[in-house]
Parts: sequence; structure tokens; C-alpha cells
Amino acid sequence: MIADCHMHTSFSTDSKACPEEMIERAIALGMKEICITDHYDMDYPRNPRTGEEEFQLDTPAYQAKIRELQERYRDRIQIRFGVELGLQAHLKGQMEEYVRRWPFDFVIGSMHLLNGKDPYDCESFQDMEDREMYRAYFRATSENLRAFHEFQTLGHLDYVVRYGKSKGAEYRCGEYRDEIDEILKLLVEYQIALEVNTGGLKYGLGFPNPHPEIIRRYRELGGEMVTVGSDAHEPRHVGFGFDTAAELLREAGFQYYTQFTDKKPVFVKL
Ligand SMILES: [Zn+2]
Ligand SMILES: [Zn+2]
Repeated sequence: MIADCHMHTSFSTDSKACPEEMIERAIALGMKEICITDHYDMDYPRNPRTGEEEFQLDTPAYQAKIRELQERYRDRIQIRFGVELGLQAHLKGQMEEYVRRWPFDFVIGSMHLLNGKDPYDCESFQDMEDREMYRAYFRATSENLRAFHEFQTLGHLDYVVRYGKSKGAEYRCGEYRDEIDEILKLLVEYQIALEVNTGGLKYGLGFPNPHPEIIRRYRELGGEMVTVGSDAHEPRHVGFGFDTAAELLREAGFQYYTQFTDKKPVFVKL
């Protein structure tokens, strides 16, 4: 099965999963390689209820744990050391320093915040129409990409759609063609992969993030690198919807997907 290159464990604020259970599940599914990518969002708004700083990552403890697991499971599965880094243009310098300092195999750059607020928190964008919010999110994604591009794949490109009032029902990605083309062209220019995140299927959108039209468009614009991730936060979602993802990728003209080791791409036949 395709290597799952996006999953979370209890090192992430929003997961209670024990890393060993995620790994065992991947092995049971027949994966030969996975990448664990716990969350790190610098300058994330504090939880208004608890006042706690969320989505911070104890990177030294995380690295030590991944090293231990790599050793323990080396005969059964390759485990890569990854991170999902929340992108915000004003943090350019800190993000550069961070990804250079730690020997990650793979960094996912993800837009979790729009104007400093998380679309996941429904109250933040109550006054904004879905279309307006989606467009603003895509524009902010290109701005972020231009500011900082030292990562290997762009996570869940149209993630914002998961949290629109109408979810995917009224989402037509063709309406944002200019904004999305801009993002895809920057990915090709900076040699950053496009992630196919099957979390969208899990959330009941009926498609992964991004929408298959966007995957096809990336290919048309010369994009060659796609990574695949379930964004699992618990063992039962590891590899979720990967058959659908493989089919979509083949239909879009891809023969290979990409894994990263030491931040270098390795192409694997689909
Ligand atoms: Zn994410
Ligand atoms: Zn994630």
C-alpha cells in the first residue's frame, strides 16, 4: 500500500494516539514506509477556554521518540521523521531557522490559519460568506508560499472547504481558478510537492483535499510530485481512502507518487 506520509500522534494537541499503535496499523495494512508528521503551529491563538498554547511541539522529545521507534521497527517498516508546520508569512525567519535546525525527512507546510484565526473554529468567520473565505484562504496561501518555501509538500490545499458553512456542497474550484493556478505554479517553481490528503473523504466531503480537478490542473501545469497522506489522528484512519487516492492520481496522469527521505524525493510506482 502507498506510504502514508501524514499522520499524528499524541505529540500533537489534537491526537491521543500512541505512536506504536499508528505504526502497527500501517504494518497491518502492508505499508513498507510511513512518515509521522506531528503538528507545530508557531504563534497559534491561545485556547480561549483554557488559556493554553496549542499546537506547540516538544521537538527534542519527539525526535528522541521517533529515533527509538525507527530502531525498534527497522525490520518491519521504515519510519520517517516529519512535521506538519503551520504556515504564517510573518514567521518566515523562525520557520526557516526551525526546519534548518532539525533533521527532518519531510516537512508539510499547511495553512491552518486565515488572518490569524482557525477556520476550524466556526465562530471566527461567521460574518464571511464561504466564497469570500475560500478566496481569501487561497490568496493567503500564495502569499505564504512566496514568503517561505523550505518545505517538501503543501498540505491539504483546499482545507478551508471542510469548515465552510455549506462544506463542499457549493464548492466549485473553477471559481477560484486564478488563485489556485497561482499556488500550483509556485509549487512547480519551488519544487514543492502537492499533497493528496484523504482527510476530505473522512470528513464526508466526497473528495480528498485538494479536489481532483486541482490535482489534474497541477499536472497540466507541469507538477510531477504528489505525496499521499491520511492525516490520521487515530489508528483506524491510517491509509484511509488510499485506493481512491491512487485511482484519482492515475486518472490525473500520475504514474508515481513521492516519499521523502532526508528531504529528498523518492518516486514510487502507483
Ligand atoms: Zn493540517
Ligand atoms: Zn495533519
